Amino acid sequence: NKTTSALLYLDGISVSFDGFKALNELSFMVEPGEMRAIIGPNGAGKTTMMDVVTGKTRPDTGDVYFGQGAYDLSKLDETEIAELGIGRKFQKPTVFEMHTVEDNLLLALKNDRGVRATLLWSTSAPQEKRIDEILDTIRLKHLRSRVAGSLSHGQKQWLEIGMLLAQEPKLLLVDEPVAGMTDAETMQTALLLKEINQTKTVVVVEHDMAFVRELGVKVTCLHEGSVLAEGTIDQVSTNDRVVEVYLGR
Ligand code: ADP
Repeated sequence: NKTTSALLYLDGISVSFDGFKALNELSFMVEPGEMRAIIGPNGAGKTTMMDVVTGKTRPDTGDVYFGQGAYDLSKLDETEIAELGIGRKFQKPTVFEMHTVEDNLLLALKNDRGVRATLLWSTSAPQEKRIDEILDTIRLKHLRSRVAGSLSHGQKQWLEIGMLLAQEPKLLLVDEPVAGMTDAETMQTALLLKEINQTKTVVVVEHDMAFVRELGVKVTCLHEGSVLAEGTIDQVSTNDRVVEVYLGR
């Protein structure tokens, strides 16, 4: 264990695939309550970084500390890490298309509590209340009875974020949430993540610079598996090395 103020602390993480270093001594920290944007060109290691945090990939070297250093995630499996309160949203929405918006959230709540299948479609008052709250947050209350498969791409992404919220994570990892969204949906997603960030720590990987600018949070730029630059979007986007990596090839 390691004493740190950070909620999430990646300490010298390296991961190789067949001798190729996808992560190379990657270190950075995310403070409790923060929202952090992670950018970087294709192949920079962003997905591998999230795989390491969630226990999908084991680092060759280095440690990942969670909760002010209380837990070393690199020693835990995926289930244990999820149970500590780390939720991940993958790039593509994976909602239950045949079920209603409301039932998708209910399934996410049940999934979290490990309730038996026989109780699957019964709801308690606290569950109803929580579903209402989440529907408010993700702005889908008017569509609660709609089948998820009929939602727009953006609405499916918000629903899946809602399903993640149902699991009450302390830290949300969100992978390219606005890919494929309209400009209006993109701006709506920025608002949604800012609202979520009022109570939860968020790490968002994203290519869309207008979106990252809209978030207005600290940015970490990865390149070749380590941190190339860190700071405000203005600092990072005008950093000579970042400009070179994005434009100079
Ligand atoms: P990003 O998400 O920033 O685009 P990735 O983490 O997906 O980057 O990939 C980093 C590098 O590691 C890339 O060069 C990619 O080809 C390589 N890589 C990722 N996963 C694997 C894997 N399972 N096997 C081999 N190479 C991989």
